[in-house]
Amino acid sequence: MSVPIPDPLRQQIAKRDGDRCCYCLTTAVNSGVAMTCDHIQPISKGGSTTSENLCLACSACNLFKSYSTEALDVVSGETAPLFNPIKQSWSDHFVWSADKTQVEGITPTGRVTVNTLRMNRIIIVLARQRWVSVGWHPPQ
Ligand SMILES: [Zn+2]
Repeated sequence: MSVPIPDPLRQQIAKRDGDRCCYCLTTAVNSGVAMTCDHIQPISKGGSTTSENLCLACSACNLFKSYSTEALDVVSGETAPLFNPIKQSWSDHFVWSADKTQVEGITPTGRVTVNTLRMNRIIIVLARQRWVSVGWHPPQ
């Protein structure tokens, strides 16, 4: 379900989030594709269209996240909530791989978010390799 987001609110979110995906940290200028606004808590699960429930997301992360809010963590065997970019810190849940091309979840929340959002799809890993080679990645 796509909910219209007023332009002023969309611009506020883009500015706050630095015009990059709050999940995989891909920037709009690297990808050449405009970011979308993700409802962290989906409307269908009671989420609202407010700055506290919206974050910038690349279209791939937004598509694969869909209506998910949690998933099974295969390491702990327990269900874990997906990463909440507003309430949580990226670096508490994720690190970059040694070659900086893959996102690694370091907590149950980090792992289920990497898996659910498919944050290491081959095409984005290949793109990150190119960005690393010219110093455009990882973002600071
Ligand atoms: Zn993303």
